[in-house]
Amino acid sequence: MEYEAIIGLEVHTQLLTETKIFCGCSTKFGAEPNSQTCPVCLGMPGVLPVLNKKVVEFAVLLGLATHCQIRRYNRFARKNYFYPDLPKGYQISQFEEPICENGYLEIETESGKKRIGLIRIHMEEDAGKSVHDETYVQANESLIDLNRCGTPLLEIVSAPDIRSPQEAHAYLAKLRQLVRYLGISDGNMEEGSFRCDANISVRPVGQKEYGTRTELKNMNSFAHVQKALEYEIARQTELLKAGKQVEQQTLLWDADNNVARAMRGKEESHDYRYFPEPDLVPIHIDVQWFDQIQKALPELPEEKFQRFTVDYKLPEYDARLLTESREVADYFERVAQLFNDFKMISNWMLGEVARALNEQKISITEFKLAPQTLADLLKAIKNKVISGSAAKKVFEYLLQNDSSVEQAIEKLGLKQISDESQIEQFVVQVIEQHPAEVESFKAGKTKVIGFLVGQVMRLSRGKANPQLVNQLLQKKLNG
Ligand SMILES: [Zn+2]
Repeated sequence: MEYEAIIGLEVHTQLLTETKIFCGCSTKFGAEPNSQTCPVCLGMPGVLPVLNKKVVEFAVLLGLATHCQIRRYNRFARKNYFYPDLPKGYQISQFEEPICENGYLEIETESGKKRIGLIRIHMEEDAGKSVHDETYVQANESLIDLNRCGTPLLEIVSAPDIRSPQEAHAYLAKLRQLVRYLGISDGNMEEGSFRCDANISVRPVGQKEYGTRTELKNMNSFAHVQKALEYEIARQTELLKAGKQVEQQTLLWDADNNVARAMRGKEESHDYRYFPEPDLVPIHIDVQWFDQIQKALPELPEEKFQRFTVDYKLPEYDARLLTESREVADYFERVAQLFNDFKMISNWMLGEVARALNEQKISITEFKLAPQTLADLLKAIKNKVISGSAAKKVFEYLLQNDSSVEQAIEKLGLKQISDESQIEQFVVQVIEQHPAEVESFKAGKTKVIGFLVGQVMRLSRGKANPQLVNQLLQKKLNG
């Protein structure tokens, strides 16, 4: 019997607001433990939360970008549970009236485009962190850092539309690209600002009912998600094939040993006793506010991709890569304003620039060359001031030194020779030095011209304009 997996993902993405969701404390990462807290996020009695407007705006932006219905009236709820890093004893989240519902994300699969439904997107606060691994923590104690308490999160819950680890990967990549484009989250999985849990069940192909599902937590990289899902699908399939039952439980992914382990029963008692948060009034997004948010919606990856193929006439492959991140696309467009051979810009960005970024492990925003400098360099090639290979040397020089393109060409002595009389001298010299090749050219073996061009280039130390060399050689040999 064939089996198929049914996967739903829950993603928590940390928002790039400067302050927390219900107080004015900073959300900056890496500060001294407990230095960014106040009575509100510490959950002291008698304090009142005040909602950060930015969080609502970010949620609406993501909702609009994922085709969701936006609930103009929505409200917060208390999710009650006890955990050492949650001093209030409850988390402020949304339950029955989330801000966004019924959207979708489109992913690319082997068999074409596929829509993955989004059940809901809701706003909530993060909890603090238990600290065990630091050197200042003794073996049998846990310390608590509450800096993260009240950091704003969006939880994005997908429908169980995902059928394979590959689709899960594509979905996560698409969602992360989107939050980055919108500028609402850095989407960094390794640093915990983009976290993912999965619900997984397996059923015989053709069966309508879902199988018993398990919940998989603690996957903190794209690779972990892929491996964990593969593991869990294989485990459940084996159980079913052996005529056994899948037990409903929560599993933690152990990335060191590549296995999923069951959480202790106590940690997964899910009796949250939700009720409407009495300290916050319901949120009303009026028409004016809604319009304002809508106007802030930037061009999304798919639109940008389409526009790049039309405005710049780039091949789809180039357009896809250049629009993968908004920053790369912006850089391209800034160069394109200064230099109009768009395919040439694309070639350089996907070639030399991408390689340099890779080597230096930096992003385009940290790239040393300003768009103007790259445009100047490409112009120098186009105007035949330097050859393509000389341009690569100039490029390397510019990465190491503060210099203009013109100064660099001068300094490296790479200015292309386009002076005919100078090139002619080289041509005459090469013809004299290679009588045998000249003979065979005249006997009809015209391919030998390549060799002779090479010799002239060598004499000029790579600086002669190759087209001119070719022309002058042809003229001399045929004349
Ligand atoms: Zn605070």
